[in-house]
Amino acid sequence: MTTEAAYSELERRCREIHLLGSTAGLLAWDQETMMPPGGAEQRSGQLALLARLTHEQFTSPRIGELLARCESEAKLTADPLSPPAVNLREWRYAYDRATKLPPALVEEFARVTSKAKEAWKAARKAKDFGTFRPSLEQTIALNRRRAECWGWADGGEPWDALADGYEPGMTAASVLAVFGPLRERLVALIGRIAEARRRPSDRFRRLHLPAAQQRAFVQFVSESIGFDYRRGRLDESAHPFCSGSHPGDIRMTTRFHEDNVNDALGSTMHESGHGIYNQGLPVEHNGTPRGRSVSLAIHESQSRTWENQVGRSREFWRWCHPHLANFFGDAVAGFGEQEVYESANMVEPSLIRVEADEATYNLHIMIRFELERAIVRGDLAAADLPGEWNARYRDYLGVEVPDDAVGCMQDIHWSMGAMGYFPTYTLGNLYAAQFFEAAAAAIGDLPARIAAGDFAALKKWLNANIHAHGQRYRSADLCRVVTGKPLDAEPLMRHLEGKFGPLYGL
Ligand code: ZN
Repeated sequence: MTTEAAYSELERRCREIHLLGSTAGLLAWDQETMMPPGGAEQRSGQLALLARLTHEQFTSPRIGELLARCESEAKLTADPLSPPAVNLREWRYAYDRATKLPPALVEEFARVTSKAKEAWKAARKAKDFGTFRPSLEQTIALNRRRAECWGWADGGEPWDALADGYEPGMTAASVLAVFGPLRERLVALIGRIAEARRRPSDRFRRLHLPAAQQRAFVQFVSESIGFDYRRGRLDESAHPFCSGSHPGDIRMTTRFHEDNVNDALGSTMHESGHGIYNQGLPVEHNGTPRGRSVSLAIHESQSRTWENQVGRSREFWRWCHPHLANFFGDAVAGFGEQEVYESANMVEPSLIRVEADEATYNLHIMIRFELERAIVRGDLAAADLPGEWNARYRDYLGVEVPDDAVGCMQDIHWSMGAMGYFPTYTLGNLYAAQFFEAAAAAIGDLPARIAAGDFAALKKWLNANIHAHGQRYRSADLCRVVTGKPLDAEPLMRHLEGKFGPLYGL
């Protein structure tokens, strides 16, 4: 068999596996948006079957043979940034990760985490950590075994092996290097905000505005910033998300609270950022790593760019403010540009991560990172988790945790066995700020363009500098290529201090 034939068979097989996976994605979208409750049982069977088929096909020995055959041919990988070299690098990475786990462990992990998820739901409802604790202990033990199978670099630790599955290359040491300085600065900023005399107005956010009007408004905004509705849809779901595995068909969702239009706007701009990334991936490479998004953190950087860097900026509201009356009529009469801008920028230390503002959000993430790292290392027992959680919320955010349902059991991640995932959210915020500074430097008059409703220059820059690469670079390398520097806490802190200083009169 020639190398060319081996590569084209490998590519054909991997594209087919991608099609299977994308079919599961569409079924999952349908489950959240359209499916009647009666479809639940059938749907879980369909999804389990597709997951099994995908896993079997990708871990088959034939894939291993083809990979080895292609890797032995120097000309395929001579240029490490060429599409075949990128694809081989990422297929190898995924194949090794998938085949290093014994099938019995994969099965045990699926069984234990599915039960743990149910135990978590019940325990959270009853506000009783004690009934969740045994499941959590099992999940931790299995995660340690998985980490042992995957292994980690010299000087590293088991958490690295878990994190690598969500963000290739991420280690506890690399996270600490940026989280350390960030935490100090954030705690100081939030402390000054808490004591500030000036409070921004949140009157606009609390207005009662009908869902149908909100829907028309957020659709208008997402279209204006560049989400292409000929290649995507916006529907409703309890937890907003964006899915879609082909640039021509991207499905995103949002939600509406009639007494908080900022929630729908923020969610829609967030998901539109994910959607614009997916629509901007190179379609000719669809189904291969060269056509795929880099990682969770880079994906999150794209959603946060539009939600925060753009959507909470003064320039955005200069453009948006005059449009409000077209959608909400007299209800918004009397609200000036300054007041609607302020409403999008309230800082309030709180208990719940998913409701947190732009400034406090990252402290919620740091708390989770510190605790899960200690748990995986064996430095913290599951039984001591609630106490440690509550102490950190007091120290970092100044809030008292009344019970574990709104404390250490608020997130689903650990119950599903996902440890090593949380830092990708804050890394996304950090990348967003650093990329946005690079975009602003390249575009020159970016703020003036945003104030004029010209979002095309930013979208074009993101398309060319981030989206078009697919997985050509891993996240840390992409950051260096795009911004000339490694990831750093400074741009995010400049963004937050520059904004909240004037708003709170600091
Ligand atoms: Zn997101």
